[in-house]
Amino acid sequence: MNLQYSEIMVRYGELSTKGKNRMRFINKLRRNIQDVLSVYPEVKVSADRDRCHVFLNGVDYTPVAESLQQIFGIQAFNPVYRVEKDVVVLTKAVQAIMTDLYYEGMTFKVTSKRSDHQFELDSTQLNHTLGGAVFDVLPNIKAQMKKPDVNLKVEIRDEAAYISHEEIRGAGGLPVGTAGKGMLMLSGGIDSPVAGYLALKRGVDIEAVHFASPPYTSPGALKKAQDLTRKLTKFGGNIQFIEVPFTEIQEEIKEKAPEAYLMTLTRRFMMRITDRIRQQRDARIIINGESLGQVASQTLESMQAINAVTTTPVIRPVVTMDKLEIIDLAQKIDTFEISIQPFEDCCTIFAPDRPKTNPKLKNVEQYEERLDVEGLVERAVAGIKVTEITPNEESDDVTDLIDDLL
Ligand code: ATP
Ligand code: MG
Repeated sequence: MNLQYSEIMVRYGELSTKGKNRMRFINKLRRNIQDVLSVYPEVKVSADRDRCHVFLNGVDYTPVAESLQQIFGIQAFNPVYRVEKDVVVLTKAVQAIMTDLYYEGMTFKVTSKRSDHQFELDSTQLNHTLGGAVFDVLPNIKAQMKKPDVNLKVEIRDEAAYISHEEIRGAGGLPVGTAGKGMLMLSGGIDSPVAGYLALKRGVDIEAVHFASPPYTSPGALKKAQDLTRKLTKFGGNIQFIEVPFTEIQEEIKEKAPEAYLMTLTRRFMMRITDRIRQQRDARIIINGESLGQVASQTLESMQAINAVTTTPVIRPVVTMDKLEIIDLAQKIDTFEISIQPFEDCCTIFAPDRPKTNPKLKNVEQYEERLDVEGLVERAVAGIKVTEITPNEESDDVTDLIDDLL
């Protein structure tokens, strides 16, 4: 008997139970699972009101289960064997599964459910027949109704019978995309990927906005931001990566504004541009990785001066976390090692030695009068480059190749 899992049944998490919304949530989750599992083309995903089914079609269960464990919106899942709806076949399958699992002293029970009422045995009869079949091959096993070591669940559905015996906890949270869209300001640092992860957890579909200032910043710094984005795709699927040309703005600011205000002005431009892109791409909020008190740009006075360019809600998921707490999360989501790669960010290169920690809005506005703010913003927005980042690096390369050919 071939003991390979044929499918994984996914139970939904904290879903809205309200009529129409529920199907919207379920469809989002199904699409997210498809995106994340696109590295296994044989795997097929379908969803109904109660469950989502991941059909393995011969693909190894373990890596697929590891991926499922990270996807937001999944409460729990059970790997299942699908067998023909036939008492003899079921009996053989149950015997094979239990023999494989058996260890001395094991207790078990069979919990059957029959949603196909045409099936020849009802659930009580099934429990007896299949339980008896287990005793036939494992005479020393003990039946136990309360907290058995193995609870063998058998379900007779219209199309087939399903057997499962283990349940794995999912990541919880909400399916990515069910809360709407937000723009994540993604540097190459430790904090912004963690901020992105936390936004994804509550169902926000993110697009990553990254400011690059070539030749001051290297292709390596850009690739780092893209690799970080790729790490974030495993929680809910593909992410649009938006590269913003920022060189002209940084040179202008450097030339025309006092050193102490470089950082504040730079950040205000980033915020304006992100907001403009947000509007164009129909997103609702901005997300960044600011953490209170970490650096000069992250005093309350600075936040106020930077935030003053927009009324769009700016969400700062890591604002009250200590650096060590953020690092713990970065390690957990596997972004830390990429974040600490030594590539210069656009801000590190133009960073003044002593930035103002309490910038005055009146001064900031005065310095900005020396610049063609609107023109600079427009040119940057006109020059953005959008690529879709998938969990699979190779498929990006193919997209790039096609882009190059066009
Ligand atoms: P991070 O670890 O996320 O880089 P940080 O502690 O280095 O954060 P700052 O450099 O002050 O803090 O940046 C604050 C926030 O501004 C970042 O978390 C990010 O959201 C945004 N940001 C900074 N630089 C860039 C960039 N080059 N592209 C996009 N967003 C950026
Ligand atoms: Mg940074």
